[in-house]
Amino acid sequence: MSAPHVLIAGAGHAGGRVAQALRAAGFTGRVTMVGEESHAPYERPALSKELLLGRKTVGEIMLEPREFWRDEQQVAAVNGRIAAVGADRVARLDSGETIAFDILVVAAGGHARKLTVVGGDLPEVRTLRSIDDCLALRGALAEGRRLLVIGGGVIGMEAASSAAALGMHVTVLETGPRIMARCLPPEGSRWLQALHEERGVRVETGVAVEAIRRADGVLSAQASRAGQALQFDADLVLAAVGITPATAFLAGSGVALDNGVLTDARCRNPAAPWCYAVGDIANSFNPLYGRHVRQETWRNAENQARAVAASIMGSGEAYEEMPWMWTDQHERNIQVVGIYTPGDLVVSRIAPGEQGGVLLWLHEGKVAGGMLVDCGRERKQLEILARRQAEVEPATLSDTAISLKELARA
Ligand SMILES: Cc1cc2nc3c(=O)[nH]c(=O)nc-3n(C[C@H](O)[C@H](O)[C@H](O)COP(=O)(O)OP(=O)(O)OC[C@H]3O[C@@H](n4cnc5c(N)ncnc54)[C@H](O)[C@@H]3O)c2cc1C
Repeated sequence: MSAPHVLIAGAGHAGGRVAQALRAAGFTGRVTMVGEESHAPYERPALSKELLLGRKTVGEIMLEPREFWRDEQQVAAVNGRIAAVGADRVARLDSGETIAFDILVVAAGGHARKLTVVGGDLPEVRTLRSIDDCLALRGALAEGRRLLVIGGGVIGMEAASSAAALGMHVTVLETGPRIMARCLPPEGSRWLQALHEERGVRVETGVAVEAIRRADGVLSAQASRAGQALQFDADLVLAAVGITPATAFLAGSGVALDNGVLTDARCRNPAAPWCYAVGDIANSFNPLYGRHVRQETWRNAENQARAVAASIMGSGEAYEEMPWMWTDQHERNIQVVGIYTPGDLVVSRIAPGEQGGVLLWLHEGKVAGGMLVDCGRERKQLEILARRQAEVEPATLSDTAISLKELARA
C-alpha cells in the first residue's frame, strides 16, 4: 500500500508542528495543511504580551518563514476554511474545493467566544486570539484611554497588564469570585489581584455583565453584583471569555466529540480511527490523571504534535503530558505545573510576593502541582514531584531548608 495522505485541519502552532514532526520522522506520504488564517503557522503567547506591547514583530512569532512550508517540508499549504468532513474521508472547503485523505489530524484550536449579551457585537468589543486581533487591538490602545476587560482568565489578565504598561486605565470584570481560577489556587489569585491593583488595574469580581451600550462615543457595560446594578464606562472592551473548540466542521463526520475532539492516549479518535487531534482542540485521555484532559497551553501544542506524528508512524507510546503553562504579568513570570482542584491543600513554601515565590498543592495528600513566581528553575523538580504524586508532609514541603531537588530525589 502506498504511504497515506495526511490532511492537517488547521495551520496554527500544533498543526505546523505536526507537519514538521512527520517529515522529521521520515514520513513519505503526502501532507496537506489547510488553515483559514492568512498567516503561516505561528506561536500565540506574544499576542497578549510582546506583540501587543510592540516589543516583538509578527516575523518573530512565526514557527518558520513562509517559504519553509513550500520547500523544505514538502507540505501542501492551502489557505482556506474546512467547512465539512465526511465519513468517506473527504474534506470540503468553503471555496468548494474537496480534498480526499487517508488520515485527518484535527489541529483547529478554538475560536474566541463572543459576548452573547446585548451590544456584545459592537465593533469596539474586541477578542484576542489571532495576529489580526492583536494588531487591531494594538491600534486602539493608547495612553489615557479606558479599557474594560471582560473575563479575568489568563488572556484577560495578560492583556490588562500590557494595557496598563501602555498607560491605559484598565478595569477587569470577572464573573467568578476570583481571577485565573481555572489554574491558580485562591492564594495565587489573591496575590495576583493585589499585584494588578498595585499597578493601577481595577479588578472587580462577582460581576455579571448584562449589556454593553454606546452613547456619544462612550461604551458602558451594564452589570450587576449580587442584585446590585453597576455601570462601567470605557472607550474599548476586550471580551476575554475563553474559547470554543472549533469542531463545527466535524458534525456528521463520525468523529467522537465532547469538549473538543476526543482521543485516546495515542491521540486517536475512538470512533474514527483515521482521525487524530492535537493542541487546544484535543480532549485526550491522559494516563497521569486517568481521565480526559484538554489543555490550552503552548507546551501541549509542541509536545502533542510530536506524539501525534509518532502515533501515525506506528509508535505505541502513550502521550502523558503534565500540564505546564507560564504567564507574564507586570514583569513577573508565573509558571503553573499540574492541575489545581478546589479543596486541594495549598502549602506556601515562599509567599508569592517574596523573591522566588512557591505555592504547592496536595491532592489527597499527594503533590499535584504548584505555582512558581520568578523561579522557573524549580519547574523540573516540581514536575518530578507531581508526576510521582509524591506523598510529602506539608511541613516538609514548606521547609525551605530542604530543596525541591532533595524532595524530588527522595
Ligand atoms: C493571546 C494568547 C496568549 C497565550 N499565551 C500563552 C502563554 O503565555 N503560555 C502558554 O502556555 N500558552 C499560551 N497560549 C496558548 C497557546 O498559544 C495555545 O495553546 C496554542 O496556540 C494552541 O495551538 P493550536 O494549534 O491547538 O491552536 P491554534 O494555534 O489556535 O491553531 C488553530 C488554527 O486552526 C485554524 N482553524 C480553525 N478552524 C479551521 C477550519 N475549519 N479550517 C481551517 N482552519 C481552521 C485557526 O484559525 C487557527 O489558525 C496563549 C494563547 C493566546 C490566544
